[in-house]
Amino acid sequence: MRISVTDRCNLRCLYCMPDGVKQVPMEEILTLEEYAFIARQAADLGIRKIKITGGEPLVRLGCCQLIHMLKHTPGIEKVTITTNGMLLETYLDDLMDAGIDGINISLDTLDKDLYRALTGRGDLETVLRALKRAVKACQGRRIPIKLNAVSLDLKALAEQLGCPYGGPGWAELLDIARQYPVDVRFIEMMPIGFGRQYRSLDHGAMLKELRRLYPDMETDDRIHGNGPAVYYRIPGFLGSVGFISAIHGKFCHSCNRVRLTSRGYVKSCLCYEDGEDLRAVLRGAGTERERALQVKEAVKRAVLLKPGAHCFEDPRGITEQQSMARIGG
Ligand code: SAM
Ligand code: SF4
Repeated sequence: MRISVTDRCNLRCLYCMPDGVKQVPMEEILTLEEYAFIARQAADLGIRKIKITGGEPLVRLGCCQLIHMLKHTPGIEKVTITTNGMLLETYLDDLMDAGIDGINISLDTLDKDLYRALTGRGDLETVLRALKRAVKACQGRRIPIKLNAVSLDLKALAEQLGCPYGGPGWAELLDIARQYPVDVRFIEMMPIGFGRQYRSLDHGAMLKELRRLYPDMETDDRIHGNGPAVYYRIPGFLGSVGFISAIHGKFCHSCNRVRLTSRGYVKSCLCYEDGEDLRAVLRGAGTERERALQVKEAVKRAVLLKPGAHCFEDPRGITEQQSMARIGG
């Protein structure tokens, strides 16, 4: 279960939450106790892994406290987080103390100016410093750190933004995997919210380019997690390279995700609006026991509503209209 703990963010990534996006009123967002309550019911149903996301999860006060609560929920085995990295250094010790099991850092480019232009407020040095510190803190603890990059055409983006650009390009992101035991994963842009206005680079072409740059690159079959990424190993690199091709790879048949939005709506699939309103149950009538049963039934229904496949390749069929920051990417 991916849990979005806020729709708020300290960045304004153009494809996710550009300037001017309205925020959800705070009273509509679940409290930490409500998240913990849902997690307990989810754990009873057999959900074992939780990813904390947002918006930017680390801007939510009490995020590390929630992670601590989730880690102490019987049945929950792993709690990981996806962050833009801007506040990671500040909260790193708290995340470690809470027992975090994995950290994904989102970073689409190593070009300082383009990063700022793309994210509105981001500072590349801050993110890279946090990444280095996180690597050090996680060393020896078997806490994986991954870097996620949306496969953007950086040159076209720079032109569009009027940003001087001479590289580094997407392939230079692999320097992170060369230097650190960090998997670098490229993720196809999904036509969700503002992402509809941007195109992904073709993963087949990217792979071809990597094979040209690194002829010794080989498929990496070691298990890196539960996700749909396809991994490759480059001799001499500490981390692997992964491709998550949600659109063209269409791994829907093996998708075991459900998403809980910050407003307490549990979604069956990113592509469609179908799901169940858990907040209405939580804040409705009935005893705690009755509400627990109702939440469980609603989560089960959301799982059963999972569609056979998404239809991202034909955006006319997409019924989800919200931005990724609201859904929880
Ligand atoms: N703020 C955190 C972060 O950036 O990691 C967590 C939330 S963010 C919505 C999670 C991930 O979704 C980020 O890696 C972001 O790049 C990605 N994302 C946002 N919009 C997307 C889209 N339309 N297609 C694919 N990935 C997207
Ligand atoms: Fe914020 Fe993450 Fe969306 Fe960027 S991708 S605007 S960091 S929520």
